[in-house]
Amino acid sequence: MPHREDADALKEKYYHSMGAALTEEGDLEEAVVFFQKAIDIHETPYAWYGLARALHAAGDLAGAVGAMSRAIKLAPGAADYYHERAVFLEVLGRPDLALDDVKKAVSLDRNYERVDEIRWAARVVEEAFRPPADSLEDTGRIGSEELRRMLEEKGGADIFRKPSCPVVSCPAYCCHFTGRLLLHGVTIGPWKLQGLRRYFQEKGLREKDLLDVFPVAEAEHGEDLFAPQDVMKLGGVASVTFPRQGTSPLGRDLARDIPKGKDYRTLMWIGQEARPCVFLSGGRCSLYDVGDEASLDPCSAFLCMTGFVFVVLRSLGLIDREAMGASSMAELNGIAVDALIILARDVYGSDEAVASADPMVQELRSAVEEDLAGNDGLRDEAMGRYRLLKNRHDGLIGRLVVSAGQKIAGLFP
Ligand code: SF4
Ligand code: SF4
Repeated sequence: MPHREDADALKEKYYHSMGAALTEEGDLEEAVVFFQKAIDIHETPYAWYGLARALHAAGDLAGAVGAMSRAIKLAPGAADYYHERAVFLEVLGRPDLALDDVKKAVSLDRNYERVDEIRWAARVVEEAFRPPADSLEDTGRIGSEELRRMLEEKGGADIFRKPSCPVVSCPAYCCHFTGRLLLHGVTIGPWKLQGLRRYFQEKGLREKDLLDVFPVAEAEHGEDLFAPQDVMKLGGVASVTFPRQGTSPLGRDLARDIPKGKDYRTLMWIGQEARPCVFLSGGRCSLYDVGDEASLDPCSAFLCMTGFVFVVLRSLGLIDREAMGASSMAELNGIAVDALIILARDVYGSDEAVASADPMVQELRSAVEEDLAGNDGLRDEAMGRYRLLKNRHDGLIGRLVVSAGQKIAGLFP
């Protein structure tokens, strides 16, 4: 049966993704069932890891330790798995074993000595670039256009919207995949496909050498696994289309410097066996600018920790291209973490910045409430106070960024 392997792999993906979603929602009993179904199809470290987290949340600590041990057996180089098992063992009353796991995590990656701070810093910096509308409800009913604009501004929406990663010395780890791109959700939308077809024609390229097609109905729950806008009728059959892969694996040397995710967790789909997307050329995406849309949606949604920090540094004017070019990927991964902590401690999460942001957010909330209540005069007054506070806040952030920038410059060799 054609696409049989893809269909099985997608079924496993559906089960473990459902397990993760149900864990988030707090439906732990069901989450455990889904993770177990995923493991029955194919044992992966991340399904065991997900099961361990669901069992921990459900209060089954011994089960969580057992499941995490299975994950560790399958992925012995993942420092986060040891770190997480240490947390379970501590609660289970085995601080001796927990300490062994912490030591193991730190021996794999020194940053595990401060991983909680790293995760805090990533949350703080990400939050600082999020438009205020993201944390408010009911903004769709707002009458004042100016207020709607205020809620959308902050720069965050723009800097993270389809960013091109400024880390040019990266061999684009994020374009390497263990398994076909279809399994990782990298599918192509209709507009991009149109642009690509024109591009292939101009360049004399054959579509079937570069793109593959999967009929969605072949996979159980296929309709839940793909973005609806990427499902198209191809040859009369609802299908998704996705880039093929090249042949050369990443290899052991390059695999040593793989960056972490934004939450400082291992990126399990990139290992030494991972192969590049066929559109990766000279370390860059050759179809980024093809057609009217930059990048593919699923690709643009991803930034690793290193890419995330450098996108932020670029937006703050703190990137020194020469110093970046002279640093290895391993050094840049380390610099990104240090820079992130400086930005969180000294700028966005500093006492001064938090004290200045709180009243500003309050005024914006009042403006929204007054708008929704139809009190235009009170809304305009709150907006006026917000503007004043925001100017002051932006000035403060600007000053803090300048001195943080000096520290960050000192991180480069
Ligand atoms: S996002 Fe991360 S993995 Fe992707 S190119 Fe940038 S630094 Fe490399
Ligand atoms: S389409 Fe471009 S960005 Fe996406 S995986 Fe392929 S090379 Fe990378």
